[in-house]
Amino acid sequence: MDGKSRQEFDLFKIAGVQIAIDYSWLVIFVLVLWSLSAGYFPEVHPGYPTSEYWLVGIVATLLFFASIVTHELSHAMVGNSLGQPVKRISLFIFGGMAHLGHEPTDAKAELKIAAAGPLTSFVLGVCFFWIPTLLGFRHGHPMWASVFDYLGFINIALGLFNLLPGFPLDGGRILRAAIWARTGDFRRATARAADWGRGIAWGLIVLGAIEIFAGALVGGLWLIFIALFLKGAASSSYQGIIMEQVLGGARVRDLMVHDPEVIDAGTTVAAAVNEHFAHHGYSGFPVLEDGRPVGMLSIAQIRDCPPAERATKRVAEVMRPINQALEIAPDATLAQALRQMSEAETGRLLVMENDRLIGLVTRSAVAHFIMIRNELGFSADERSTDRSGAPRGAEPPTSNPPAASAAS
Ligand SMILES: [Zn+2]
Repeated sequence: MDGKSRQEFDLFKIAGVQIAIDYSWLVIFVLVLWSLSAGYFPEVHPGYPTSEYWLVGIVATLLFFASIVTHELSHAMVGNSLGQPVKRISLFIFGGMAHLGHEPTDAKAELKIAAAGPLTSFVLGVCFFWIPTLLGFRHGHPMWASVFDYLGFINIALGLFNLLPGFPLDGGRILRAAIWARTGDFRRATARAADWGRGIAWGLIVLGAIEIFAGALVGGLWLIFIALFLKGAASSSYQGIIMEQVLGGARVRDLMVHDPEVIDAGTTVAAAVNEHFAHHGYSGFPVLEDGRPVGMLSIAQIRDCPPAERATKRVAEVMRPINQALEIAPDATLAQALRQMSEAETGRLLVMENDRLIGLVTRSAVAHFIMIRNELGFSADERSTDRSGAPRGAEPPTSNPPAASAAS
């Protein structure tokens, strides 16, 4: 699942891994808290003061949150120990995601990283079930005991759901590792596992529809939401891999525009429009101040500046200030550049070397490059060998373009 242009904020760091939360996760947090404090606990254990329901609700929700973080952290820990670094974990509306820097380089590593998550959830589940007995409050405090039973149940359910053999769920990654190990063909293994992912998504959609007809509207809708997400993720993860293969080992350096046209930060917006945008046919330019890049000015920012103010406003006031998300090294791959552009929601990146602007790489140039390579029939098998990926078996190009069949 690769929709990383989501809105998220950093929460804290554990063992070098940044935990970030997508704003959509707050919706889930409130929903879980509310359904537990105002629904589940009052119904199962009537007669307590409202404040106590909210207290157990908060504890249960926080531990639920911690359980998901622990599940993702286990992927990250195993990944890091196998030299497949994970620097970031995002929590969003459907759970969590550990961002691997790149696809695993061998099937065994993939299997270990994937299996760590469900295994951790099962261990957590058993521990939670055991806590009330261990600490001796199963009979003295039945409501608190049921908090831990609920967490035990949730963790076992989380482990089981993630074991469904559809990519990009953990079970789908295990399936991919198995096919990969057997055939030596990463691409075909990913295609099969993604097919299973879409198949399972359809199964969940049917199940959700049945639930809705049976009267469980919220549960059914929720299942359908998860299924749609899974279906989209299966397709986009697979397309991302195909994209990397089509792009081969091409680097930003190969495709960048050298010494791009720049705009001075002190120029007025009106002058920038007349002297640069109107003349060169580019939709964005790097902005320099004293010879150093300080931002990017694109049509979007000009559109946001009212025409009456353009004669007086300086470019520095309306540009998008530069940050690391807008910079890329010349040796980065084009696949990395594309990913970074979509994360930063920009159509162009500044190519920087030794703190100096040496070029500009644009989304449209990469798109053009992909088109040309496709027309010429380049695929994974002809790509250059300088890429750090694992050696993968040669497969004749399929008669069915995978990207087309993956489109939803
Ligand atoms: Zn997982």
